[in-house]
Amino acid sequence: MSFKTDTVCVHTGAYHDDKMWGVNTPIFTSSAIGYLDADVVRYPRYYNTPNQKAVAEKLATLEKAEDGLIFSSGMAAITTVFLTLLKHGDHVILQNDLYGGTTYFAENTLNRVGIEFTNVNLDNPENLLDKIRPNTKLIYLETPSNPLLKITDIAAVTKIAQAKNIITAIDNTFASPINQNPITLGIDIVIHSATKYLNGHSDMCAGAMVSTNALTQSIKENAFRFGGSIDANASYLLERSMKTLSLRVEKHNTNAMTMARFLSSHPKVERVYYPGLESHPGHTIAKTQMKGFGGMMSFDIKGNLTDAEKMMRKLKIIKPAVSLGGVESLVCSPVRTSHAKVTAEERLRQGVKDSLVRFSVGIEDPNDLMNDLDQALKAY
Ligand SMILES: *Cc1c(COP(=O)(O)O)cnc(C)c1O
Repeated sequence: MSFKTDTVCVHTGAYHDDKMWGVNTPIFTSSAIGYLDADVVRYPRYYNTPNQKAVAEKLATLEKAEDGLIFSSGMAAITTVFLTLLKHGDHVILQNDLYGGTTYFAENTLNRVGIEFTNVNLDNPENLLDKIRPNTKLIYLETPSNPLLKITDIAAVTKIAQAKNIITAIDNTFASPINQNPITLGIDIVIHSATKYLNGHSDMCAGAMVSTNALTQSIKENAFRFGGSIDANASYLLERSMKTLSLRVEKHNTNAMTMARFLSSHPKVERVYYPGLESHPGHTIAKTQMKGFGGMMSFDIKGNLTDAEKMMRKLKIIKPAVSLGGVESLVCSPVRTSHAKVTAEERLRQGVKDSLVRFSVGIEDPNDLMNDLDQALKAY
């Protein structure tokens, strides 16, 4: 029997406790597990303990995938996927404007192990055509992107990739599975930093990949050796958090839309980047591939970095902090955080100004958030 999203969030994957009849998955902390009468050898680093599998099944179902693996961080998921699919001599195409950690991994690790990469601007997916080489094995995207919420036409990319038999993977962290299901648009592998919306409470690190049974199995064979598995307590925390994922994301979506409209008309704000706004260059595509526009946005204030930081210090509810996707609203300056190591020239090319503020809109009352922003914007 298949269930709707809200039901999947609450129930799917839960381990049936036939000893205590508790409604929640028990936390199985053992790393030493008997094998004589077991069907398979279980061990946390084999990604096959009940707590890990409960989360993997819930997420795979939400993403319309067959199976998945849960990792100890988003970067563990990303690096394991890359180093499974790619070997010495292969080539990967990376969308511009990826998460900073992924870019550093490409620049510092891929070249060192003989894997070539090319960055491509996917505003027009046809840009892929002259970048694809005979040894291209993977195309990797991220939409909406950080921090300008650029939108890539997922179906257009997968159409090109499938015609050339190239695997596609996407970082779906910003959208969450509630707003976007890339597998239904032809993507092979979906990756999440579960640290963000999936957990949603800014109190743990986790990551995930979901895909077909076959691809998941081949990634698992490397994952065993790389050792980025998640422990039972963290798995349970994530499973518990995901029960409210759809509720939280719906509230993030409506709050963010309200904030985007409010900031767009604020005299101290130069420009707002939010895919839900008709003025956003990716709005039309976002409308076709997303069910909601998400809780992430950014805006340029009228002023410089000092002004932006002055404004942040005046905020009373919204916290200046790195990371995103939690119930609490956060702001940060990309030039001081995610893009601190990117050169000023390159930042300019990407459109990331010193006056840019990234805003992870939480689930607080929207009027309180607007009042907080208004008083802080007036105070610098
Ligand atoms: C945070 C983040 C990651 C990395 O995840 P960690 O859990 O910090 O390892 C990857 N992609 C995106 C889009 C992120 O926001």
